[in-house]
Amino acid sequence: MNKVVIVTGGGRGIGAATSILLAERGYAVCVNYRSRHEYAEKVVTQIKAQGGQAFAFAADVSNEAEVIKLFAATEQKFGSITHLVNNAGILFTQSRLSDISLERFNEVITTNISSCFLCCREAVKRMKNGCAIVNVSSGAARTGSPNEYIDYAASKGAIDTLTKGLSLEVAKQGIRVNCVRPGLIYTEMHRDGGEPNRVDRLSTNIPLQRGGKPQEVANAIAWLLSDEASFVTGIFVDVTGGN
Ligand code: NAP
Repeated sequence: MNKVVIVTGGGRGIGAATSILLAERGYAVCVNYRSRHEYAEKVVTQIKAQGGQAFAFAADVSNEAEVIKLFAATEQKFGSITHLVNNAGILFTQSRLSDISLERFNEVITTNISSCFLCCREAVKRMKNGCAIVNVSSGAARTGSPNEYIDYAASKGAIDTLTKGLSLEVAKQGIRVNCVRPGLIYTEMHRDGGEPNRVDRLSTNIPLQRGGKPQEVANAIAWLLSDEASFVTGIFVDVTGGN
């Protein structure tokens, strides 16, 4: 099977590391992004320089029409989509729940869950035996992120539930659906939360005594997508340094 993967939010952070690793392992990669074209193009340039296949495609994956265009463009470019990584996600400034507006709550929920739902739906319509999906949740789904971003944590809890249900729904078709829950990883996301150095501040709370690298999350995603995980579905891999 020719391996064709869409990585949502593939231009930066964990998504960029995943796009590059999957290309090294022979996948043709659609590097999806929302607005930062230059980051996605940099990932594509690196993949092509290493002899891989990739293209960048702008789509807000919480928007149904844009998701449909994303899948159509990938099929047109590389043929049947065999793998999907639902990685795109957002969070906002650290706040207590009492200070979170309904507008913010709805934006986090829509971006983080609707995107996962829409991309999973378009993927399973097309996928066959041997295809696989990995959803990127968060350790926050277990902790609830009190005093920081309960809205974000709740959206990740929903991704866990969606993963479990869908994995059972499509298992008979031979499609695997799994989830990776990163812990504190060095990416720009913490700047969006209002604390760029959050990983360093909290690293002594991590049993392994350090923050994680995007590459370390990408390794888990790549394993779950691969045939090495051919009897693995509906599971959650915590890449959290022991938390
Ligand atoms: P990041 O560096 O902030 O990158 C986020 C990526 O998502 C960007 O490529 C961004 O596109 C894209 N994106 C955001 N909204 C989108 C939308 N509506 N449509 C399409 N793309 C969208 O984040 P990250 O830290 O790598 O996080 C990746 C995933 O890991 C997220 O789901 C996050 O919740 C999860 N995670 C991260 C950590 C951590 O410590 N970093 C911990 C646990 C879980 P643009 O580049 O165009 O803006």
